[in-house]
Amino acid sequence: MKTMTCKQLGGACDKEFHADSFEEIATLSKNHGTEMFQKGDEAHLKAMNDMQALMQKPGAMKEWFEGKWREFEALPED
Ligand SMILES: [Zn+2]
Repeated sequence: MKTMTCKQLGGACDKEFHADSFEEIATLSKNHGTEMFQKGDEAHLKAMNDMQALMQKPGAMKEWFEGKWREFEALPED
């Protein structure tokens, strides 16, 4: 298992996610983001807006995803 925080994944808090694959940790982070969005959490709403602004650039999503994937792969196992 590897650990990444909400902040490391473009979020707004220090909540930790644990997973064996990047796909899995990305899903956990997404679910958490959706939950915080539904709660109307301001810090997460702002982080999501920043993210959306960043993703306007063509290819930005892929670049971001690949960068995070590399970051995940480089992490030590828990
Ligand atoms: Zn969070």
